Amino acid sequence: MSFGKKGSHSKRRFAALHPFRADLHCHSSFSDGTDTPEALIDLALEKGLSGLSITDHDTLGAYPQALDYAQKRGLLLLPGIEFSAYFQESPVHILAYAFRLKSEALLTLCGRHRKRRFERNLEIVQRLKGLGIHLGEIKGEGRPHIALALIEKGVVGSIQEAFDRFLGDGKPAFCPGKTISVEETLEVIHRAGGRAVIAHPHLIRKQSLLRRLSELPFDGIEGYYAKFSPERERKYLELGRKKEWLITGGSDYHGTNKPFSSLGSSWVDEKTFYTLYDHFNEFRSQ
Ligand code: AMP
Ligand code: ZN
Ligand code: FE
Ligand code: FE
Repeated sequence: MSFGKKGSHSKRRFAALHPFRADLHCHSSFSDGTDTPEALIDLALEKGLSGLSITDHDTLGAYPQALDYAQKRGLLLLPGIEFSAYFQESPVHILAYAFRLKSEALLTLCGRHRKRRFERNLEIVQRLKGLGIHLGEIKGEGRPHIALALIEKGVVGSIQEAFDRFLGDGKPAFCPGKTISVEETLEVIHRAGGRAVIAHPHLIRKQSLLRRLSELPFDGIEGYYAKFSPERERKYLELGRKKEWLITGGSDYHGTNKPFSSLGSSWVDEKTFYTLYDHFNEFRSQ
């Protein structure tokens, strides 16, 4: 794996004003966050961040408008996305960064996820019907949107309760749809020139699974995540260093859909950010 050279053609004008921080994991209203991309960029600046990556689930919908707005506001925006993949029947989220935004392979993968979500959501709604719960309109493609519809119907009191009782992996209304493998996802990310990172590794409960996963051609691991205990963080940093991976971090901010995680609560420093950002700038217009 080779990362781009640090520095040369990137703007660094914020470095002198604030300690450089970039949050590399958050969701906009193009997936299951509640803030528009513009609102996320405004909020990032309010929080004193110098860089951001909007990593919506399986969609690049926030780009390129977000890039234009970030440039206007003077925030460094790194293209990112979070793919929902499966590895040996377990869900694994993969963050991808610094890819070609116009990559056919990547856009095709997003299209397949869109279809998967559509079919999966029909099945989830059917299963809820089977449990005697008849939902009206669902305003979005993510499970949190179904959770909001359950709240509106008065079936549950919170998004968390909806996941615990119905929508979480293995719960009675859950259905993953036509799953897409980690291996295939990595291949597409690399074909698009991007870097692939294991997201929130603490959600991979089985250690044997993480070990097998770490044999795959990942480029990084999300080692900084607000919820990590110091031991967890140490463990993931150790794994990342051993593999010579990039160690990334982010808040996984979702706006009011996940109120306990605030934008900028986890972040990477300037060196890590520019390793990715300079790589993206090498083929920015492609
Ligand atoms: P989806 O991409 O539609 O399958 O939904 C996944 C999203 O739902 C995650 O990114 C979280 O925001 C949320 N989510 C998944 N599992 C849970 C859970 N057990 N409790 C609360 N939220 C969850
Ligand atoms: Zn989410
Ligand atoms: Fe995730
Ligand atoms: Fe996320």
